[in-house]
Parts: sequence; C-alpha cells; structure tokens
Amino acid sequence: MSDLTYLKGIGPSTINKLNKLDIYNIDDLIDYYPYRYEILKKTNLDAETSIISGVISSSVNIYYFGKKNSLRFKILYDNRIINVVIYNRGFLKKNLTISKTITLIGKYDPKTNLFTASDIKLYDLGNRVEINPIYHLVKGLTNNNLNKYINLAIDSVLINDYIPEVLKEKYNFLDKKESLKIIHNPSKDLNNAIKRCKYEELFLFSLKMNELKNKNSKNNIGYKRSIDKDKINEFISSLPFELTKDQLNVLDEIFTDLSSPKRMNRLVQGDVGSGKTIVAFLAMYALSLDKYQSALMAPTEILAHQHYLNMVKLFDGYELNIKEILGSTSKKEKELIKEELASGKIDIIIGTHALLQDDISFNNLGLIITDEQHRFGVNQRSNLRNKGNLVDVLYLSATPIPRTYALTIYGDMDISIIKTMPSGRKPVKTINITNNTEDTKRLLVTIKKELDNNHQVYIVSPLIESEDEEADIKKIYDNYSKAFKDYTIGILHGKMTSKEKDGIMEEFQKGKINILISTTVIEVGVDVKNATLIIIYDAYKFGLATLHQLRGRVGRNDLESKCILVSDRDTKRLQIMEETTDGFKLAEEDFKLRGSGDLFGTKQSGDMNFKIANLTRDFDILLKAKEDSDNILKNIDKYPELKRILDDSINKD
Ligand code: ADP
Ligand code: MG
Repeated sequence: MSDLTYLKGIGPSTINKLNKLDIYNIDDLIDYYPYRYEILKKTNLDAETSIISGVISSSVNIYYFGKKNSLRFKILYDNRIINVVIYNRGFLKKNLTISKTITLIGKYDPKTNLFTASDIKLYDLGNRVEINPIYHLVKGLTNNNLNKYINLAIDSVLINDYIPEVLKEKYNFLDKKESLKIIHNPSKDLNNAIKRCKYEELFLFSLKMNELKNKNSKNNIGYKRSIDKDKINEFISSLPFELTKDQLNVLDEIFTDLSSPKRMNRLVQGDVGSGKTIVAFLAMYALSLDKYQSALMAPTEILAHQHYLNMVKLFDGYELNIKEILGSTSKKEKELIKEELASGKIDIIIGTHALLQDDISFNNLGLIITDEQHRFGVNQRSNLRNKGNLVDVLYLSATPIPRTYALTIYGDMDISIIKTMPSGRKPVKTINITNNTEDTKRLLVTIKKELDNNHQVYIVSPLIESEDEEADIKKIYDNYSKAFKDYTIGILHGKMTSKEKDGIMEEFQKGKINILISTTVIEVGVDVKNATLIIIYDAYKFGLATLHQLRGRVGRNDLESKCILVSDRDTKRLQIMEETTDGFKLAEEDFKLRGSGDLFGTKQSGDMNFKIANLTRDFDILLKAKEDSDNILKNIDKYPELKRILDDSINKD
C-alpha cells in the first residue's frame, strides 16, 4: 500500500493528523472528497453573509486571550474606512500588509462599523466567481494544505479507472484522474466530474450487490432448524406487553426461513421504536432451543451492552447462557468466553461487529444477527455469510427506505417490514425554533419543566466544521451548566473511549444524569424510557431520516414527548418533521428533496460509507449504475480488472 511518507512535504506530524481523518495511505487521500463547496462572489456590504474586497489601510494588531487571539485592522472599502476583526487567525498577521487588497467573508454591523470576518482571502476576488472545495478537517490541518496533499497524491500514483470504456462513452464521462483534479480544483466541468466519481462508486457497489445476489441464489443451502413453537409462545405470553401484529408476522417469516432447508438472508426493516429487538431475541431463543448458538452484533458498544442487559433481564430464569464481548472485556474473561463458545457452553454472544473479526470459533453457530444494518457495508454482509457452517443471517435496520429503493440497495436479501407501532405510544410532538433570544428563553423554560417532572433530556449537536468536537460540545455543556445548576449534566462525544461512553450512558439510563449532551453517537438504538425531550441544534445539518432516528430516542413509553429542532436555516424542509412521525413518509420526502442542500451531505450521514455518492440523493445514478452493472456482469470475463476487485471483496465460500 502506498505510504504517505512518499509524498513530498508530509512529515510524521502531518501523517498523525491525516490518520485522525482515517487517511492512512495515498489511496485514502485520493478517496477523500470535499463535503461541500464554498462559492465566492462579491456581494453588497449588507448581505446575510457578505463577501467584499478592500485595501488594508492600517497596521494589524493582534490581541490574545487565553489560547485564543483576534486580529484587528481597518480597510478602505467603497470610499470609506471599515473596522475588521477576525478570530483565531493570528498566523495571518504576517500576510496582512498595509495597502494590500484582500477579500473578506463575514458579517458587517453598520451600528459599530465593524466587519466580523469568518474568513479572509489574501487576494482581490475581482468579478470572478470562485468555487473552493471544503473538507472536513482536524485541528492543525488547514483546508489549503489538505487540498495540496490530495493534489500531490493524485499526481503521484497511477489512478485506477473502473468504469468500462463503453459506459464512459455512453455518459460522456471524463477520465478518472481528470475528474479528481477538477473536484479538488473546480472548473467548469465540476458537475460532470462529481457525477462521474459518484457513478463509479455506485457502479462498483451495484456490481458487488449483483454478484452477491447471484452467489446467494446459487449457494443457499442451509439447515432445517426445528422451531419449538410451544416454548416460544410460552415465552411470548410471559412478556409484559403484547407483540404487535407486524412483530408476529415478521417472526412467522423468520421461523419459516429458519425451518426451511434454505439459508436465511433476511432484512427486517422497522421504524425506530417499532420493537425489532424483541424479534431478534426470539429468533435467537428459538435457535437455542434447537441447540444452536447465535451471535448478535450492534454498531456501537453502548448498544451492544444495552441489548445484553435487556436480554439477560428478559430471559431471567430461563436456561439460556448469554454473554457479551466488548472492548472493555478483560483479556482473561475473553479467553474464557472463547473457550465456552468453542465448547458450546454459551448459547448467545452479543458484541459489536468486531465480534466476528476476533479469532472466535463456535461449537455450532446457527444464526448471526446484525442490528442497525445500514451501518454495515456490502463486504461485511458477505463476510457474515461466510462465517460459520451454513449460518442463517438476519439484519435489522431502522432506516425506513421505501420498498422500491430497498429492493435496489438490499437486492440480495429478503425483506420484512414492521410498520405498526406498539400500542399506547404517543407521537412525539416536534417543534421548530430558531436561535434567537426569545426562542432560547422559552426553550430553557421547556427544559426546566421536563426536569422538574423528573424526566430526562437529550441535547444533540452535530459536528461542527472546525472538527474540534470536544471544544464545541464543551461550550454547550458550559452554557447548560450555568443555566441548570441543580441538575447533573453528562457529555458524550466521539473522542471519548468506549468505556467512558458506556459509563455515561449507563448513568443516563439509571437516571443519574438529567441532561445528556452529545454528538450523534446516540443516534443508533439507545433506549431510555424516561427521556421525554430531545433538542437538536443546527438541525439543518441533518437529513430527515437522521432527524427521525434522533427523535426516536424519546417517546419510548406512554409519556408525552417533545422534539425541538433549533435551526436558523432550511426551515421549510424541517417543517416536514412537525407534520409527520412516519419514518417511511419522511424517507420519501428526503428522496424528493434530494439534490437540495449541500452537495455531498454531512460526513456522519453516509448510509453505507460511500466516499462521494449518497444513496438517497444520488438514487437516479444508482438506478443507472445497477442496470449497467447487470450487463457488465454477464460478460465479466471481458473485464479482468473488475473481476479481480469482485473476487477480492466477495470472499469465496
Ligand atoms: P427498535 O425497533 O427501534 O430497535 P426497540 O426494539 O428498542 O425498538 O423497542 C423499543 C421499546 O419498545 C423497547 O423498550 C421495547 O421493550 C418496547 N417494545 C417492543 N415491542 C413492544 C410491544 N409490542 N409493546 C410494547 N412495547 C414494546
Ligand atoms: Mg434497535
């Protein structure tokens, strides 16, 4: 694998920073796309965000406060002098020399004659329209430098172009290398370049999907499991609630799969809170009654641990040996668990997907379940099926993808849907507000009311462009600490270790924490019944499907729950959240709106870890890619390069 050190001017400290962005080699660097573009065109001084050019007309003063700094100077603009301030760009001082023309981006306040710049370009924009790629960054790495490294990487290796010549001609696509160059150094062909790279990614995805489907249908011989309906019904009637009609239907479909000689390869789609977990538990219980082992995998440790606790509680008194393996599990304990899995002493093992990467061997693994399937990729899907001896596989997903889309994206699986919600649930009331003082005051009152009723509150803030996640979330924490002195506030973000996260989550679950402030790590599946209010800051940064997932953290029992979306932008789109709590409907709306908003969506919303494509927004490209890949696959021997990557990514059984 081409090492980053081969690139000129990249030293250990830069490599360290790139690693934080999951860039470990030159290929990763080439796969790193801007998440949006900044479009620069001069505006008037009074625009919402103004972009103006002016001449520096004073010396530049730097002021320090703590670790932060500000630069202050004056510019001549349109025959008048304007004061300028910019924060934390001390390093620019040496470049801001008197009488130089620069371009300022920011906001002008006529009352104080002060222009607060969020960015400064060290040149005159003139009458040009400039389009700049903007990347997700880490501290100490500038957008310009990252762009430079990516350009270096593109120039330093041979770029593989996977789109067959016939298709390139069909769509008039540019070369791969040329497209990459344009994406990182925009020119008039930008749209073609982006489309081409998205297409390539979706084409390879479709190719794999189609190959997987072919293989599954050729190789779907499994075991006939015998299902002990009596014992299962006995357990079901001991539950504190009645299963919904859809839960029962889906269970039926699963049991039919399990008891047929075919291998199960089924996806259960169900809206947040529809009760997929119990269905999974029952499938595992059924297998254990037939003396087979099962593994349940969740995308995060928090969720895996929650499943473990729930299952142990539900099956208290049953002869069922359930264990969990987490990052925090001690080595000694792990060894013991491995031994017991190999000897068949353990019936059910719960963990993250690292579970199957470990060198674990089972006595007779019969069923693998992955929760929140949309977090896993196609490759992981085929790896799962290759594990164990003709093992049945069940996927759970809360991403409510309309059926036609699901058939394309999950074309290799059978699909079950849970639509009905458990009875007694009240729909979560959703309210859109802005950041202004009036709304903020009312928000604080609402929070106080919930806290006084002994309910708990989630506060979610997206990753902010600066990527200094820890600092951003601490700021919110500080504000809330001041406003709610008598309450315990917890904080949860991606930079914490899983042990720390679990600790906080456990305290929140136990009610010891009243307000939990977090980035989107809570998105998947966390179930705290006493939480009745969720506040989502900068809601415009999320897709409707993600907002719906987040909203699903509350309204998990018969209490009245609220979701408050705080946003100064995109209010029309967010309005839909107030109108419906039907996840499938929201997904449809998301699809209709695709193409709007930022070009690539935010980093954390990627459905299947695509680098540039976005399944929802680029669905039309996916449909074309799927059709094309069907045809190519029929003649795959003519395309040795494609055949090689297919063979590499889809392991042989
Ligand atoms: P999801 O489908 O989002 O994974 P969960 O499986 O976590 O949802 O279920 C959400 C909550 O609803 C859990 O607390 C679960 O115990 C409860 N639940 C599941 N099925 C029912 C039901 N039929 N009636 C009432 N509550 C249920
Ligand atoms: Mg779940």
